[in-house]
Amino acid sequence: MKKNIVLLLLLISFCGGTEMTEGSLIITTNTSQETTTTVLEEAIPKSDNYLDYRDVKIFRASTISDEHVNILTKYIEYTEQLLFKDKSVKRENLYPILVVQLDSENYESAIDLEKEYCEYLKEEYPSTFNNSRCNPRNHNKEDDGSIGLFTDGGRVSGSSISGTPSDRECCYLFINGSFDLSWDSRSQAYVTIHEMYHIFQLSNVVGFGYDLEQKITGKRIGNDERDKPFWMEGYATYFSHLYYSRDINDFSHLQNEMYGGLFSCYCGDNQPTIKERYLSGPELYNVTWESDWAVGYQVGAWFIAYLTNIHGEQTMYDFWINSQTGILFPENFQNTFGKDYITYEEEFRNFITNSSEEELMSILPNS
Ligand SMILES: [Zn+2]
Repeated sequence: MKKNIVLLLLLISFCGGTEMTEGSLIITTNTSQETTTTVLEEAIPKSDNYLDYRDVKIFRASTISDEHVNILTKYIEYTEQLLFKDKSVKRENLYPILVVQLDSENYESAIDLEKEYCEYLKEEYPSTFNNSRCNPRNHNKEDDGSIGLFTDGGRVSGSSISGTPSDRECCYLFINGSFDLSWDSRSQAYVTIHEMYHIFQLSNVVGFGYDLEQKITGKRIGNDERDKPFWMEGYATYFSHLYYSRDINDFSHLQNEMYGGLFSCYCGDNQPTIKERYLSGPELYNVTWESDWAVGYQVGAWFIAYLTNIHGEQTMYDFWINSQTGILFPENFQNTFGKDYITYEEEFRNFITNSSEEELMSILPNS
């Protein structure tokens, strides 16, 4: 379980999503449309194929292995094929994606990558450069030369989607941490899927503006100003494990991760288990990153598993497609699942409370 703890600690900060910019070294690109972003909207090809819009650029820490980059590339493409092919997707909102593959074990390489990335932005996307942390006006350079883009208090940043296309930014900024492949190549794979899932979610709401986007995606509900992980992170957590299990054709991965996400504490000390903390705590939609992020992510994943078991994967996917109209989370939830989220959470809580371990695990798919 230790690896899970490490991973979740990494995920927690990034998925907060208030940061804006990043970058570094160019390695691989796959771009049928490298210049699309600067083209006027009416010039965007009206194609049904996401590949006609594809614009992914990978910046790579100098010390990262080819093996890391191969896993990254493989699971980016894998997730694209799963989520981006549907005709309902807003293909024009899926790219550009700037992917930064860091070496979590090499701080210097992250600083170097900050420089490279900023030089690239300055050249290719000057307005994003100006609005980002790359701009000297927007950062305090540390003595070691770091600017807090891929670095954080003397350490290498973890995985996150730290930027989304807007009138201030060109691109998604997908920062990817690294894992020790000698024992943890799984995390390298499913974290990539997790972050790509966020890009799919966000692509449906790009253009509504930050505040509205939060209310459409369920990160904020009503006038509550506190960010909630359960919905967006629940989806990304659950489906990253499900998709990864399908890829390796081994559903013990999903079972183990979901089991640990309920019956372990997801912590380094002796706190109660996630399940106990959830049942003694507030409703899932009132759990915040600060109050108990692990409950938000893990019970969120169980809530998604529960809904998926009842409604099927297509309906789960449709929630995000439906969000393209700008409908807010409560109404979209009601329309998509036929019941309001408050009632559904009560039923889910009862299910968690009253079911045996076996009954709980039985809602997870085996194919
Ligand atoms: Zn996330």
